[in-house]
Amino acid sequence: MKVINIDKNQCIGCGSCCGIDQTHFDFLDGRFPSVISNDNLDDQALLDAIDSCPTEAITIIEKAEEACDCGEECNCDDECNCGDDCHCGDGCPCHK
Ligand code: SF4
Repeated sequence: MKVINIDKNQCIGCGSCCGIDQTHFDFLDGRFPSVISNDNLDDQALLDAIDSCPTEAITIIEKAEEACDCGEECNCDDECNCGDDCHCGDGCPCHK
């Protein structure tokens, strides 16, 4: 399964992605964008948002097949609000 990944170490919080594609991105925490949907990954607005990112922080990655079941919180600096696995590409503190 492919998902949108935002590298929080590269993101400068410019807001361009959220301005271009409100279907996939939102400033839920007021500092950095969050991915709010992984549907329609070939959507033109998403591709435009990826192209607009000045630091190339946004990529589409293959989500790990194995779900983490450690019960620890994601350490990616944003809170997962999907009720699902971490999508940040940085992984859970247990390194699964
Ligand atoms: S466009 Fe890139 S740098 Fe700007 S907020 Fe989005 S992910 Fe961060």
